[in-house]
Amino acid sequence: MSKIKSYIPVIISFLISVIIIFVYVLCTKNDVSFSTKEYYNVYLDGKLLGSIRSKVALENYINKEQKNLKKQYGVSKIYVPNGIDIEKGISHEPEIVSEKKIYNKIKKKKGFTVKGYVVTITDSKKNEIKINMIDKKIFNKAVTKVVKSFVDQTSLNNYRNNTQPEIKTTGSIIENIDIEQDVSIKESYISTEEPIYLDTESLTKYLLFGSSSTESEYIVKPGDTIETVAFNNKLNEEEFLIVNPEFTSSNNLLTPGQVVNVALINPVLKIVVEKHIVVDQDKPFEIEEKDDDSMDVGTTEVEVEGVNGRQRLTEKIKYVNGDIEKSVIVNTEVLKEPIKKVVRKGTRKSYNAYSYYEGGGSPAVVSGVWGWPTIYPYIITSEFKFRWGRHHNGLDISGCGFGSPIFSIGDGTVVDVVASCPGQGYYGSSCGSGYGNRVQIQTGNMLVIYAHLNSVQVSVGQHVSKGEVVGTMGNSGSSTGTHLHFEVRVDGTPVNPWVIY
Ligand SMILES: [Zn+2]
Repeated sequence: MSKIKSYIPVIISFLISVIIIFVYVLCTKNDVSFSTKEYYNVYLDGKLLGSIRSKVALENYINKEQKNLKKQYGVSKIYVPNGIDIEKGISHEPEIVSEKKIYNKIKKKKGFTVKGYVVTITDSKKNEIKINMIDKKIFNKAVTKVVKSFVDQTSLNNYRNNTQPEIKTTGSIIENIDIEQDVSIKESYISTEEPIYLDTESLTKYLLFGSSSTESEYIVKPGDTIETVAFNNKLNEEEFLIVNPEFTSSNNLLTPGQVVNVALINPVLKIVVEKHIVVDQDKPFEIEEKDDDSMDVGTTEVEVEGVNGRQRLTEKIKYVNGDIEKSVIVNTEVLKEPIKKVVRKGTRKSYNAYSYYEGGGSPAVVSGVWGWPTIYPYIITSEFKFRWGRHHNGLDISGCGFGSPIFSIGDGTVVDVVASCPGQGYYGSSCGSGYGNRVQIQTGNMLVIYAHLNSVQVSVGQHVSKGEVVGTMGNSGSSTGTHLHFEVRVDGTPVNPWVIY
């Protein structure tokens, strides 16, 4: 026993040595000095770039070499490009190249990648926009900033905190804020050759202006106002305030020399805001004509002056990026009934009055007062102004219903009619030059256009009187919903229709 005992340290030493050698061989199995047969084939998009000894060595090389990229993107690791495949191969005589050579080949062909997030925005037509970012938190922050371009801070806070004040008389409540497109977010390896957003500011800019828009600046000159600078740069005043958030109202003063942003906004996202709105609107008086044989033909006398009434409308309005896309009047409450205007109209024929009448006089129309082209109540869904860099040359009037009558606002002659467009147009349709079914009526030096009609009820050359039905409201031509496009041109130039009222 004692003899065996004395051998124990020797046996243990021997066993330890064997284990050490075994482990060493195992660990260095892949190393150059121990195996000349094992190597790695490096492929890029299926094409062999070359063979190397160590995959780990290539990755370390990449990381050491790409310090600048790491710094630029604020990441701890840079990865091989997408499309790189490193496969283990076994051969007797592989042609081995250095990791540096492979690295340079990869670098020349394709960008390295970083780990980040890809946000995919998909619209209803399945068009996709992909946005790359390292930190996904900047996306939510940028979306909030874009939303704030269309909803003021107080209203947004009230909506989010469920503290919107109740409507007692008139006012509005936000019922929903959403992104119309589908948005998905996925972790991914992103090529450093693609744009990668690193901060909220630059991502917000992209979401608002799109990639095609270059930022443009304007230096304020003496006498400039927000109104004139905006108009001269094809912006409306709200758009100006969106791109220059340091201003709170279009009444703010500009200082000569001050630099302002005049870039056109072209949002990548479609921010939907649905509102419940209560507003008051006039309820117009009717006119009753009474024959009076004690007065000459062609003469009139007002017996009772008309007074407009007042009605309260409840509307549901859907805005997409600040534009009204859908509007419905869900309730109408009469606050004050209008007082009917009573006009006595002469019927006594005398030579003078008769010749006046034959001469084309229009006794029922009071000079300088224009009729309204739709029934009441109505909603103005787009004003006469710039929108997305294009000028909207008329008023869009909605809320009256498909097929509701459209009236001539004055006496005149029908000079042009298009009546062959399909009743339901779509945005971008060129039927009737985009106006769809339309009627153009010349009244003095004013050309009045009634567009997107469902039906046309007059023909070219016909004389129409104020209040006469010329067609019905529709959705033909380049139109996103039932409405009347009401345009007034003076000597060929579109003017804001409100100036005649
Ligand atoms: Zn329009």
